[in-house]
Amino acid sequence: MFTGPRSRRLTTGLAACLAGVLACLVLLTACQTEKEHSAELFVFGTIVEVKVWGASQEQSGKAFSEIQQMFQGMHRDWHAWEPGLLVQINEAFASGDGVTANPEIAEMIRQSQWVEEKSGGLFNPAIGGLVALWGFHTSDYPIIGPPPSQADIDKILAQQPSSLDIRINAVQLTSDNPFVQLDFGGIAKGYAVDLAVARLRELGIGNAIVNAGGDLRAFGRHGDRPWRVAVRKPGGGTIGTVEVRGDEALFTSGNYERFREDAEERYPHILDPRTGWPVRDVASATVITGTGTLADAAATALIVAGMNDWTTVARALGLSQVLMIDDAGRVYLTPEMANRIQFDAGVDRVVVDRAPAP
Ligand code: ADP
Ligand code: MG
Repeated sequence: MFTGPRSRRLTTGLAACLAGVLACLVLLTACQTEKEHSAELFVFGTIVEVKVWGASQEQSGKAFSEIQQMFQGMHRDWHAWEPGLLVQINEAFASGDGVTANPEIAEMIRQSQWVEEKSGGLFNPAIGGLVALWGFHTSDYPIIGPPPSQADIDKILAQQPSSLDIRINAVQLTSDNPFVQLDFGGIAKGYAVDLAVARLRELGIGNAIVNAGGDLRAFGRHGDRPWRVAVRKPGGGTIGTVEVRGDEALFTSGNYERFREDAEERYPHILDPRTGWPVRDVASATVITGTGTLADAAATALIVAGMNDWTTVARALGLSQVLMIDDAGRVYLTPEMANRIQFDAGVDRVVVDRAPAP
């Protein structure tokens, strides 16, 4: 059995090397009981555990190797700074050229546009230039050094990059704004999980969970009980568990693992597109909804919304099951989320009604 690195994030360089090796090893990582088969796969520097219940060993093994191949393709095509399709797309936008994407990227842009619009621009996957300016196009955290200059930040804000500047015609893309630089860091994991789930279903699998370090989607059941999953909390560990109903995704965006730091301060990696500065008053946002794509992007948007506005943005995105943890570790959640979580002992929380309809 493969006993490689188990840390949630590996460096991307290592990722590239391991991706090829893992393609061969994937079947070796599979472990099984009579009814349950699982494998540890790999995408975007993260280990993804796929568990299948009630399928044959042969059917599960085929699914695991197909999904690992899909993940390799995503890593290659969706990477924001390693040479690949997305980098070519950003180069074409910068020089005002049209460019051919692929159906997955076109769909991820469409979904991103929806979340950007509904969140009033708090989720904005076109701010790759800003993410790069802060040094977050790296896999080596923490980044040491002072923040960028306000003048450099202001320059990018004035360019007003937005995913809504992109026009999509089948797989042909053009951008009305040359400063659009796509960075799918806030949504790609969610879409990857959705594509993996779709493939599992196409292969006739009726019960499975695709879990990227606590960000997950599950469908069906684990034998005679539902899938039960943990909810992550800032700094490691969990705050409780949720029983998955039918087919759902649960994602937590954390603003505590990846950051820049200097002698004075920490600057976390989720940026407020309105100011160009990292968001500070939220430690994490957890969302349960139907798809990984929406759960992932929405969790990022809710972190940007902050402790004052998250209920309004949740409502605008059509979300009812949300949990926020502020920078002091206090837990706030919607009544619908309160009904879903079985909290660990000693977790204080405040149930907050959603904002009234606009
Ligand atoms: P994580 O996966 O680490 O929990 P997220 O899903 O929130 O966190 O993704 C954070 C990443 O999203 C950043 O590293 C960056 O690539 C990108 N990003 C940062 N700020 C925004 C934003 N306001 N809107 C969209 N994407 C963002
Ligand atoms: Mg996200």
